[in-house]
Amino acid sequence: MKVGVLALQGDVREHARSLEAAGATAVQVKRDDQLAGVDALVIPGGESTTIGKLLDRFDLLGPLRERIDSGMAVYGTCAGLILLAREVVGREDAPFRIPALDVSVRRNAYGRQVDSFETDLRVKGFDEPLHAVFIRAPSIEAVGEDVEVLAEHEGAPVFVRQGNLLASSFHPEMTDDGRVHRLFVEMAEKS
Ligand code: GLN
Repeated sequence: MKVGVLALQGDVREHARSLEAAGATAVQVKRDDQLAGVDALVIPGGESTTIGKLLDRFDLLGPLRERIDSGMAVYGTCAGLILLAREVVGREDAPFRIPALDVSVRRNAYGRQVDSFETDLRVKGFDEPLHAVFIRAPSIEAVGEDVEVLAEHEGAPVFVRQGNLLASSFHPEMTDDGRVHRLFVEMAEKS
């Protein structure tokens, strides 16, 4: 299973390490031909405006949309979640996106003072709580009916799945807990 990590900006190496630990072969994806060679893709955290602009500049928005529509598994963390969201609400937009995931998000929603925090989440299908790291995270304000909520924080979704798409507002690649990446690799194997 060859899983790409979109390597335009953001925490690429951490995802690659977590994917390898989950039994996948991780490769960096910067160009269309590299995208064509992977079975699944992670869109990492970083700065969604920057990653979006680079996706546009490198002509990756169209090819990525086509791969998603044809069933490729994609996991977006934090900025990656924003880039997959159907709608961005609030003051900060993210104009270049692949709006395939039926959620509405708000960038940097968790406020200035507590813009980074850690907490334990109960995740559907996991026996033990998951320690989750949030860094200037987006909130998920609404989800469509095809979206399954896998975890919530203070009553709002923070981890969701819709068919071949997985997204979290937190960063599992920042911890040694490999369960989220294993879940994604399993999803990729079935898609
Ligand atoms: N605040 C960033 C954004 O809105 C996301 C932060 C992250 O990916 N850790 O793009």
